[in-house]
Amino acid sequence: MKTQMDALRQYFQSGATQSYAFRLLQLERLKKVVLESEKALYEALYADLKKTDEDAWATEIGFFLSELNDTIKHLKEWMQPKYVSTNLVNIPSASYTIQEPLGVVCIIAPWNYPFQLLFTPLIGAIAGGNCAVLKPSEFAPATAKVMGKIIDSLFPNNYILYLEGEGATILPPLFTENRFDHIFYTGSTAVGKIIYKYAAEKLVPVTLELGGKSPAVICSDANLRVAARRLANPKFSNCGQMCIAPDYILVPTHLKDKLIQELILAIQAFYGADAEASEHYGKIINDKQWLRLTSYLSEGEIVYGGKSNREKLFIEPTILTGVTTDAKIMQDEIFGPILPIITYATKEEALGVIQKNPNPLAFYVFTENKVDESYWLTHVPSGGACVNNATMHITNHDLPFGGRGFSGTGGYHGKASFDTFTHTKSVLKTPTWIDPSFKYPPYKGKAWLLKRLIG
Ligand code: NAD
Repeated sequence: MKTQMDALRQYFQSGATQSYAFRLLQLERLKKVVLESEKALYEALYADLKKTDEDAWATEIGFFLSELNDTIKHLKEWMQPKYVSTNLVNIPSASYTIQEPLGVVCIIAPWNYPFQLLFTPLIGAIAGGNCAVLKPSEFAPATAKVMGKIIDSLFPNNYILYLEGEGATILPPLFTENRFDHIFYTGSTAVGKIIYKYAAEKLVPVTLELGGKSPAVICSDANLRVAARRLANPKFSNCGQMCIAPDYILVPTHLKDKLIQELILAIQAFYGADAEASEHYGKIINDKQWLRLTSYLSEGEIVYGGKSNREKLFIEPTILTGVTTDAKIMQDEIFGPILPIITYATKEEALGVIQKNPNPLAFYVFTENKVDESYWLTHVPSGGACVNNATMHITNHDLPFGGRGFSGTGGYHGKASFDTFTHTKSVLKTPTWIDPSFKYPPYKGKAWLLKRLIG
């Protein structure tokens, strides 16, 4: 491993990855091969997560291509120095920033969107002029195999190195024996803490894209039909195995029954009355996750769904009521198709529930009212948020995506990815044709001038 890491370092230091032409070419080659691999990716994503081709396109391949096209379009502009004004004491200097490549970066991905969550950060790494080590999740093996083929067919492994294996086995020695210039990690908060510790030992900067419980608050004036459709869609898409899926819903007590009715209508419109028979409904990734999720089913009253089938890794879209805030399902990130509905009488009561799991990755509020909108946006510190929507903020590359505190640190997508995978270097360039003596000691008698220039 050490030799492979040395080869990456040497290649980076050769400067080969830095020109605009090189970066653009690699992004264009990547686009071409991903498009050629579309069918293989569909098959793999179906095998790993029972994603339909349409779902795989929208949330994985198309999502990636949209970001890639945006980066190809703007890369030249992003690479330009950005001039800023110069302070009085430095006139007539020029002041600007340049985006410097970081070096050799490591990108680690989870299994729930196995392609998109490895390849989208890769766009930023290539655009930033870096070399990269890519570590896919071992729990989506079919997709990992196709991605490996794509990378190995495109890039020499002293530029982009694809490393398959169990994270807990292969990553610790990689981190202790080598130093990366950045670690970009997407996954659980528990493993995020482990990665952060390894990074701290060598002062490696990190981006941590973690999980958490993303709440949805329904206000009394919310459009319940629209709210139910916009919440049920991401909650049950990919069986709720989505980092920003609404984890639970807080609803005023008097609207609970109406909201549940609307949620059931939405679920049945999406997957029919029998989700197990629906070709549009996914599956739980593995037995371990299935066991964890089905253990939550007894923690409340099942008002819809509740069926499961271990052999098929199926869990029906399920709505739970009567869940207490100290139940396990209200402490863990659910990451599955089980939706607790919690009632509240006052805003403060609802806020108290959210504050038990601070800094969610995303927060959703449904209201037509600017006062409530502002109350909720200012009272829930979260990575991102939507008003009258859920999860769709992730689709806009002009909105940096990431968590805060417990749900992560740093962000990416679009220009934010380029910024994450580059260092903003500040440069002051001063001409030599003028060199006034008031800038040099002794300063006696010059204080009045310095005060005017600096103060
Ligand atoms: P995970 O933390 O188990 O695994 C993620 C990656 O870490 C995998 O590649 C794995 O091999 C590696 N890994 C596991 N144990 C390790 C260890 N001890 N040392 C080093 N590396 C190790 O996460 P997961 O179960 O694959 O994904 C689910 C979690 O990811 C959820 O919490 C979800 O919210 C989060 N997630 C976050 C985002 C986001 O953008 N913020 C996106 C998707 C998923």
